[in-house]
Amino acid sequence: MLEHNTHCEPLMRQNLWETIAYILNNTKGLTSSRICGIVFQGSGCSEDEPSLEWTVNVDPGPKPQANRENNRRTDVRDILYIKLSIQMKPLETIAYILNNTKGLTSSRICGIVFQGSGCSEDEPSLEWTVNVDPGPKPQANRENNRRTDQQISQCYTIIILSILFLQKIDYIYMTGDIVDHAIWNTSIQKNSDVITKVTQKMRTDFPDTPVYPILGNHEPSPLNAYAPHYITDEKVSTKWLYELVADLWSVWLPPDTRETILRGGFYTVLARPGFRIIVLNNNVCYNLNWWLVYNPKDQDGQLQWLADTLLQAENDGENVHILAHIPTGDTECLRTWSREFHKIIDRFENTIRAIFNGHTHNDHFHVYYATNESTRPISMAINGGSVTTFNDLNSNYKTYSVDSATYNILDAETWIFNLTEANINPNVNPTWYKLYSFKDQYGVESLSPIELDKLTHKLAANRSLLEEYSR
Ligand SMILES: [Zn+2]
Repeated sequence: MLEHNTHCEPLMRQNLWETIAYILNNTKGLTSSRICGIVFQGSGCSEDEPSLEWTVNVDPGPKPQANRENNRRTDVRDILYIKLSIQMKPLETIAYILNNTKGLTSSRICGIVFQGSGCSEDEPSLEWTVNVDPGPKPQANRENNRRTDQQISQCYTIIILSILFLQKIDYIYMTGDIVDHAIWNTSIQKNSDVITKVTQKMRTDFPDTPVYPILGNHEPSPLNAYAPHYITDEKVSTKWLYELVADLWSVWLPPDTRETILRGGFYTVLARPGFRIIVLNNNVCYNLNWWLVYNPKDQDGQLQWLADTLLQAENDGENVHILAHIPTGDTECLRTWSREFHKIIDRFENTIRAIFNGHTHNDHFHVYYATNESTRPISMAINGGSVTTFNDLNSNYKTYSVDSATYNILDAETWIFNLTEANINPNVNPTWYKLYSFKDQYGVESLSPIELDKLTHKLAANRSLLEEYSR
């Protein structure tokens, strides 16, 4: 029996959920095949769900004489059938989770899938914490944070989802979502082919450049569904994806990354002495990852691993970049996960130099503030946009200039092409051009948390600047 969540507020989305919660709470012997057979009727669900089998008493007849005139066939004999197929696997996955989650409550589902829409915030199964070394934090290296012209001349360039580019590129960060937005119409075979082709293409086009890829929520099949590593049932496990990328990415990554990739799709690499890259698979926190319903905790111990890895990096005096597909802090990432992540960011503010996100397709940044000093900026995250077009968005990618001593971000350039022109001449390669330099456009010294905090205040006070940024 599911518990009724009485905390949901009458928002539009919430009303829908309250209704669903009520139904879930008050339906005795509810099975997933019943939900499937109703909500996804005709999409390949089992058709012999007993609770959907019923009959009406109808008079046995005889029937009255048929009106032959009305039943006459016409000459139009061809009937066009359109078959819209939806893969069964997403349904199977959700069904598996519903069937195999012990003590499942509606407030847990509400707190994950409809997080931020007025669900109860005190669902106990969503409350957990990561052990983070209590510190003290090492002294911030102010000298390293200082930007000098000499350091600029030694800076490195990092690009996200790059295409051919004349400037020397030191690293490439691929921030996930290689598979298209076919949403439910995916398969393991199709996704494997796409991921393999893109990996091979990057390898061919950038044979000498280290590439650090991360997983997006579109890579699994069904999309969004990242199962805990101990789920080994092949019908629903994510094992195939982890095995695929562990093999494909081995052209770029050292062998010791394999263990964590196979465990949960995350890894760390010492890119060069003093510079560490930590790649997360934070799709596990995505509110549409239904496996959260099954296990809303720190899946595969990833955040604990992050805290431990950062402590080691701090002890070794390293600078760290974190790559994570989904930006944290809004309703798309499970609140507990975001909070624990923020706790870790706060503790290791002097080791983490930048965070890179994907997922939204948008050109935006986040500023993280200290937990106990809410006006003090401690970290920043930036999004690389996307090479593929999206609603009202041109193809784009970013190049980053990085301080060679501190690994702080000095500037970000956004590159695009004119989509209208490209579509007029589809046989001509599009002409990419620099849309803007973040530093020049917004008059910041760098993309440090302090500078981005200042810019945020400027944007809040200057409407035309805000509109320009939005545009
Ligand atoms: Zn995404």
